[in-house]
Amino acid sequence: MKVFQNACIVTVNSSFDVIEKGTLAVEGKKIVYVGPRRDYPDAEIFDCSGKVIMPGFVNGHAHMPMIFFRGYTDDLNLQDWLWQRIFPLESRHTPDTEYHGALAAAAELTRTGTTTVNDMYYHGEYVARALKEAGLSGTVSSCLMSSNEQAESVLRSALDLADRYKDDEDIRVAIAPHAEYTCTPEDLRYWGETAAKAGLPIHIHCSETRSEHEECVARHGMTPVELFESLGMMETHMLLAHCVYITENDMDVIKKHGASVLHNPISNLKLASGVAPIPKMLEKGLKVAISTDGPASNNTQDMWEEMRVAALVHKGYLRDPLVMNAKTSLYHATKGAALALGYNDRGSLEEGMRADFVVFRTDSPAMDIRTDIVNLIVYSGNSRDIVMTVAGGEVLYDSGEYRKLDIEKVMGDARNDFETIFRDR
Ligand SMILES: [Zn+2]
Repeated sequence: MKVFQNACIVTVNSSFDVIEKGTLAVEGKKIVYVGPRRDYPDAEIFDCSGKVIMPGFVNGHAHMPMIFFRGYTDDLNLQDWLWQRIFPLESRHTPDTEYHGALAAAAELTRTGTTTVNDMYYHGEYVARALKEAGLSGTVSSCLMSSNEQAESVLRSALDLADRYKDDEDIRVAIAPHAEYTCTPEDLRYWGETAAKAGLPIHIHCSETRSEHEECVARHGMTPVELFESLGMMETHMLLAHCVYITENDMDVIKKHGASVLHNPISNLKLASGVAPIPKMLEKGLKVAISTDGPASNNTQDMWEEMRVAALVHKGYLRDPLVMNAKTSLYHATKGAALALGYNDRGSLEEGMRADFVVFRTDSPAMDIRTDIVNLIVYSGNSRDIVMTVAGGEVLYDSGEYRKLDIEKVMGDARNDFETIFRDR
């Protein structure tokens, strides 16, 4: 048993309780106690005096092996970024580079406090392997595009992967058609039916840019959301990344089917895609998960930073400070994100929940004068204040040291792969 004593615990439970000088006890992968001080004489004790514990971040949408392209693909719009830079580079990936890229990304996620991630890349199996090795958990998927002649075998291997991990507590699998503009309606219908039959969620890009939205309407007389509904895809749980250009009716369709919106504010700003109408979606009761998107369009996987931007961008965009607040943003980066992805067992610090959390220091000048802790976390805090990341009850990172990953090897392999991908271009 591991017991974390004397911490300020930000639970993100239904009443958003904050416990001062509290105790959090972990047995195996689960939290077994959260509350006022309680002593456990035989446990491994972690003294958290002066520190705060909050749930680990749940990253709603990522492309982990894209770490190699960070800094090489900047200051472009989505279509040029994707077709001129990213797709040609991605064709140079090998199983090893995907795996090593995912491991390096996992190191960044761990360091910045993310414990669960919903990833989409070419071969979900390598991301799954990297997550397991890093001690993280998440949903993985293998991207499907109609131009890929191997799409059927990608789909079959995704189903095999789901079968392989069906009893695993850490890895889930989604079916991932890339987007409306890279998939035919026939394929979308077929992949949707396959996902529904297998009981798997669908993870897809949706209405990320105005041109995507308008071209879809021109092609099909429907918005991407309406098209997905008409093809029966909404019969399974849809994880819709972006939803920047979205109509009132789209939101109602999303609500009706219990689909979820994966909100990537920094990527949407950086690619000049726009700002998703999240306050309106929340008014309508939609499920929202804050997400980083891939490291080549953000360019970090730092959910703390994402949460802060998600709290700020809507205020500025709508010129109304009341449309978003710190609590809402923290919720949608933790518990709300977990629920949006279909996880009921994480995102808050409560008995019986998965022991996924971070411990951070507040003795920095920015955090030392402690007023409202949730406001401080979102508006003043920084992932660099994280001293410990715990996932599935295991300490993954402690005071600058990775406990599970051999970080020298992970980054060495990634550097070698970077040379391979960019060589002879
Ligand atoms: Zn994406």
